Amino acid sequence: MNGTSHAAIGAATGFVVANSFDASPSATLLLVGLGSISGLIPDLDIDGKLRGKITLSHKMIRLSAQLIGILMILYSFIEKTATEKWLGLGIGVMINLVASLIKQKHMLTITGAAVIAGGFSLDELWLILLGVYVIIASFSSHRSYTHSLLGVIFFGFIAYKLEASLGINGVFYTCLGGYVSHLIADLKILPFNKRGIKLFLPVSSKEL
Ligand SMILES: [Zn+2]
Repeated sequence: MNGTSHAAIGAATGFVVANSFDASPSATLLLVGLGSISGLIPDLDIDGKLRGKITLSHKMIRLSAQLIGILMILYSFIEKTATEKWLGLGIGVMINLVASLIKQKHMLTITGAAVIAGGFSLDELWLILLGVYVIIASFSSHRSYTHSLLGVIFFGFIAYKLEASLGINGVFYTCLGGYVSHLIADLKILPFNKRGIKLFLPVSSKEL
């Protein structure tokens, strides 16, 4: 399944969660955005395949990394004090610049490092862990660890910490739902998938 479909399913997940939590219009917008990003995140593992050639998937990766940068700017403006606002803006812009260079190998790894730096400067555990996730993903082979239960648990913890930081109901369920929707859409039982996912890594590397 391609990036656009994954993002669309994730966005729909966010919309459903927003409705069940009676979210305000602005919170609904945020949840729809978070859902679409979460629906794209498992495919951050295609960096290993980058060979200086840009495909649609690489464009989607670049887009999701840039969205993380933009979200970081918005987040620091809503949640943080004056100095932190400018710090968040600076780092968000930096993440965007680095992400715009994602057309060659290792740029995703560097983006992850920038996200970790952002997390430390804003003192946000979820952002630090997200950076760690991006770096691990950039070294993982496609459809392996990010597409496993271990990946779900790791990302779920990031989502849990993000909801605690934002104080907005539905963030955890949206992120988790968007992520899980990606794995379901990648299952081998679906007719449009040639390959499945290794859900039970590292215990079993059988493709489901
Ligand atoms: Zn995938």
